[in-house]
Amino acid sequence: MNNWIDPFRNPAVADVLAGRIGDLGRQLAVRRPGPIRIMEVCGSHTMSIARYGLRDLLPPQVDLVSGPGCPVCVTDTGYLDTAICLARQGVIIATFGDMLNVPGSDTTLGRVRSEGARIEVCYSPSEALAHARQNPGREVVFLAIGFETTIGPVISLIDPARTEGLKNLSLLVAFKRIPPALALLRADPELAIDAFLCPAHVSAIIGAHAYDFLTGPKGIPCVIAGFEPLDILIGIDHILQQKMKGEARVENLYNRVVRENGNLRAQALIDRILEPVSTPWRGLGILPDSGLALRPDYADFDAPRKLGVPLKTGVPPTACRCGDVIKGKLHPPECPLFGLACNPDHPVGPCMVSAEGSCAAAFKYARLALSPSNCVVHQPD
Ligand code: SF4
Repeated sequence: MNNWIDPFRNPAVADVLAGRIGDLGRQLAVRRPGPIRIMEVCGSHTMSIARYGLRDLLPPQVDLVSGPGCPVCVTDTGYLDTAICLARQGVIIATFGDMLNVPGSDTTLGRVRSEGARIEVCYSPSEALAHARQNPGREVVFLAIGFETTIGPVISLIDPARTEGLKNLSLLVAFKRIPPALALLRADPELAIDAFLCPAHVSAIIGAHAYDFLTGPKGIPCVIAGFEPLDILIGIDHILQQKMKGEARVENLYNRVVRENGNLRAQALIDRILEPVSTPWRGLGILPDSGLALRPDYADFDAPRKLGVPLKTGVPPTACRCGDVIKGKLHPPECPLFGLACNPDHPVGPCMVSAEGSCAAAFKYARLALSPSNCVVHQPD
């Protein structure tokens, strides 16, 4: 018995919650046509929902759609092309492993590595410091992608590198902030998002109040939930209860981790080193103030400025529908390539590569209904 986890995986409680969610879904369907569309924003939620088959527990009146919460998936093709260009110029690329197989415009970092480029997979950003120390004659560029959760640990490299006098470490930055993406998705009438199941880890940094602007008289419910199956079902239950009452509030159901104002130390670190910028998102376009770039005081750690290699504009893979999957417009099996031309061994888009990608989750656990033209041979674990 694990007292921290098992209570959040209790099947009897899940049954009760599923029954209540079913009742609420049916009651809401009497009031308005069409399903209630709830977007789970976080990639870890997406994986947990697929792993525990939570969609199977929901009534047809509740449509759970995945959002832009996988950092690898939302990173645009041009960023990968820039990283590939640097690798080919002899720079040592340090990166989290998922990035190796994400297609750039015409190749991947993994293929470039097999051709001789030096690409080091890191489990922690601090490993980039070690690579820089061990290779004083070569530039080491860390691929600095991710949301508010990852940003702190990555930029924590900078102060020790400066103190040590390491001159051969820099970052290729494509950090992203979740709130501007949610604002865009909320405002899109075609997507008709009724509520957000807000990300847990990101919320631990930015705090529950960061979603206040999405709520109120013209807003929608924003409920923060943890990653265990009961966390998620309770989150959905609370969203539907808010809908029944005509409310649109932020509810923090993950208060074992998330505080109302977030992690103030992490926020101060981010604010000292980074400044808001417009940045491109796969599927969403260029969003104002949705990215964070190094402030001028830290220009010596900014790989494009330091190495004179501007960020490229990439060409996303033809026929890949990752942009629509990221926006919640499409469930992964509705992509014509899902499970056929695109699978984890031969991913066409990032959503099939990343451990948090919607297509990878749907393929691995194979629980979403498949379109008639698709045939998945993989069996769930
Ligand atoms: S199935 Fe493959 S090609 Fe289709 S959206 Fe997903 S990752 Fe992109």
